[in-house]
Amino acid sequence: MTRNHRTFRAAAILACVFASAAGCGGAPKRAANDTTTSATASAANTDPCAMRLHDICGPLLLYYATNHALPARLEQLSEVPGFEHVKDFSCPVSGEPYVYNPPGIPAPDPKTRLIIYDAVPAHGKTRWAVSVPVEAGEGPLVVKVVAVPESRFAHSR
Ligand SMILES: [Zn+2]
Repeated sequence: MTRNHRTFRAAAILACVFASAAGCGGAPKRAANDTTTSATASAANTDPCAMRLHDICGPLLLYYATNHALPARLEQLSEVPGFEHVKDFSCPVSGEPYVYNPPGIPAPDPKTRLIIYDAVPAHGKTRWAVSVPVEAGEGPLVVKVVAVPESRFAHSR
């Protein structure tokens, strides 16, 4: 996987959103008062599955900013200019394609819903997932890569 200069500009535009959302892009340590993500923040920056989801968040944010809607299919994100290299939408551990569920299922944080997640609990008893706000306001979408306990998925089935 290579990143070229073309993708850098778009990534830079999104960097501030990432930095505040989930500590993407090698951001420094989370503030101590961020209790919801601090436990998983370091794993989210090193786990291959979480990093793949971070990569997917880039074109997802840009798609949303352009279309003011989520894409119908994840594969559409490969068509976002500058993100042609993002074309693998499966968990690197299980090999299973990520579930893409635009309406989403409830996330541990009740203000958010999970729209992309591991098809199986391939990471211990957790799945990596991408959360977005339940009520998307004006302005850029706020996405987070989160580790979700398997019990959360058992409930929603
Ligand atoms: Zn995974």
